[in-house]
Amino acid sequence: MCESVYIAHMESTDIALIGAGPIGLEMAVALKQAGLDYLHFDAAQVGHTISWFAPQTRFFSSNERIAIAGVPLQTPDQGKCTREQYLAYLRSVVLQFDLKIRTFEPMVGIDRDNDGFLLTTHPRGGTRQIRTRRVILATGGTAHPRQLGIKGENLPHVSNYFQDPHLYFQKNLLIVGGKNSAVEAALRCHQAGANVVMSYRRDQFNPNSIKYWLLPEINGLNQSGKIPAHFNTLPMEITPTHVLLSGPDGRTIHIPADFVLLMIGYQADLSLCKLAGIELDGPCQLPRHDPSTMRTNVPGLYVAGTVTGGTQDQFTVFLENCHIHVQRILADLTGNQPPAAPMTPQRPES
Ligand SMILES: Cc1cc2nc3c(=O)[nH]c(=O)nc-3n(C[C@H](O)[C@H](O)[C@H](O)COP(=O)(O)OP(=O)(O)OC[C@H]3O[C@@H](n4cnc5c(N)ncnc54)[C@H](O)[C@@H]3O)c2cc1C
Repeated sequence: MCESVYIAHMESTDIALIGAGPIGLEMAVALKQAGLDYLHFDAAQVGHTISWFAPQTRFFSSNERIAIAGVPLQTPDQGKCTREQYLAYLRSVVLQFDLKIRTFEPMVGIDRDNDGFLLTTHPRGGTRQIRTRRVILATGGTAHPRQLGIKGENLPHVSNYFQDPHLYFQKNLLIVGGKNSAVEAALRCHQAGANVVMSYRRDQFNPNSIKYWLLPEINGLNQSGKIPAHFNTLPMEITPTHVLLSGPDGRTIHIPADFVLLMIGYQADLSLCKLAGIELDGPCQLPRHDPSTMRTNVPGLYVAGTVTGGTQDQFTVFLENCHIHVQRILADLTGNQPPAAPMTPQRPES
């Protein structure tokens, strides 16, 4: 039997940065360039959130809006960046700035005391403790899939993560949802030879929630019956062979399904915010913070990136409108004036 190794050594740093998504990495470059003392952690690999996008998924945002740390983001075809291109870009940024990141070392504890914070991490096979004066949480906004709360949701042929369309070739695939992720998965799986049917709780696809280049195609394929969409329906139960939808007139519709993709969104894991004592406001549990400095209600604790949006139901906080958080935190740490708010779009550029 393998016993866990406990690491007794206590480290100290001025700043602990948690999360190595795009905004955490941009923050790390800023801290390093300012000569500040920091340690950087991620529970998984750098860019973990992007790593679970389906292969070849393209960002909605234009490349310059998701570029970080002043490093240009070029793509071979001048098109919007794919998952693979962006992960390669993030690795290059790490290498270019020689960032030291403790990947696969989740932060599991944040205790406050008079000297600042005592942090606990779980590197593989052990526990580490770090004393720090300041903490920056850049832990993202999409850690967990949303749940329907229905019977059968956890069956093995049901997933919240769209992966390779090949899996669904000549299979009956029901996709639940009607926004970007659902529509993109439906189109790609249809093109890959799956028999795709959609269930969406609204009465039509919303042009504001779908990449503009996908909308005409999904509407066309829906109207021609090639991708039937049951609008105004809600899944009631998933069985090994079917999904039961409740229709607008109260009728139950039985859809044969070999696979089910629940493309109904993701939400933040706010457990570290709660552990640290950050107040969470309103139904979306917004971590309380001063937007000009990104300071939270907990002295010495900052938030950056999409975690600031809490469990957003309508996504308005994206990678592309979070870059300013880095400059605001850096200004606050170095005693400079926070930068003025830029003109930011409400949704990714289309
Ligand atoms: C399919 C899809 C397409 C998208 N397209 C766009 C787009 O076009 N434009 C756009 O602006 N945004 C887009 N987004 C959103 C975008 O992915 C996020 O905005 C972006 O990843 C947010 O960056 P972030 O650094 O705030 O957080 P994340 O990238 O989520 O990074 C958070 C990091 O924190 C780490 N972490 C979490 N908890 C802990 C812990 N306890 N200890 C240590 N580490 C921890 C995670 O492992 C992760 O690496 C898209 C999202 C999805 C799902």
